[in-house]
Formats: sequence, structure tokens, C-alpha cells
Amino acid sequence: MQIAQDRVVLIHYTLRNDAGDVLDSSSGGDALAYLHGQGNIIPGLEKALEGKQTGDKLSVKVEPAEGYGERDAKLVQQVPRRQFGGANVQPGMQFHVQTSQGHTRVVTVKRIVGDMVTVDGNHPLAGEILNFDVEVADVRDATAEELEHGHVHGPGGHHHHDH
Ligand code: ZN
Repeated sequence: MQIAQDRVVLIHYTLRNDAGDVLDSSSGGDALAYLHGQGNIIPGLEKALEGKQTGDKLSVKVEPAEGYGERDAKLVQQVPRRQFGGANVQPGMQFHVQTSQGHTRVVTVKRIVGDMVTVDGNHPLAGEILNFDVEVADVRDATAEELEHGHVHGPGGHHHHDH
């Protein structure tokens, strides 16, 4: 079956940065399952997979604009340590914060100087050129429930019973 809008796609992948370091990989684990055409994965990878089928292998280079976006210096901010509610804040820790627009954003603690904590709200892969090696493991039709939720259920997808 070919990859097309609203089909469930399972892929094995290895992601490297431009220096060749492996950033992420599904090897040794479950394939990643996503619902095609629903923005479950980054646009550059989703476009490259359009029309491919089970068994196809491809290498895809994704620029930041089609990946996790460019780095935005405005998303690096200093906040007083007391705003973390007594948590033992350490560099590398990640927190969910509410933005002024009411969205949830993940921020990563970069450094701590005195009582000021520098947090970075950029995605860790923002600004990176992403090099994917992908193998299409399976393609199937989505269930009505998966289409309603906008994501895949079962192996490699979401596991939940709360909606
Ligand atoms: Zn669901």
C-alpha cells in the first residue's frame, strides 16, 4: 500500500545531524507509527514519504524550516529561581511552561547563575539540518477512531484510554 493522506505509516529511522552524530533512532525498538498528512511528524520528512510504500528505503535531508524551525534568540530567557516552586533546578532539566498565548512550551534549563536561571524554549533540534535514513515498515488504512483523534493507536502509536 502506498503512503497517502490519512494512512497509518510505520517507519524505522535513524536521525543524524550534519556532523554525522546519531541523534535518534528506532533501531532495536518498535517502528514509529504516524498518521500521514496530519502533521504528526516534521513537514520535510512527511513530504519525502508521500507516495512511498512498504519496504522502500530513503535518505532525506531536512532543512530547519521544514524541520523544527530556526533557533529564536527571544526564546532564551532568564527567570528567577523562585519561579520553579522550590524544584532543585539543574542544567538539562526540562519544564512545561504556559506562554502568554496560553500554549504549553517545553523549556530546557541551560545554566544557573546565582538566583537566575537561563531557560531555552527552542526545540532541542531547532536550527539543525536533519539527515534521516528511513525504511517504510508498513502502511495501512487508519481506523475511524484514529482519524477522529488525529493520531495512531496501538504499537508504535498512542496508548491511552482516557478519551
Ligand atoms: Zn487517541
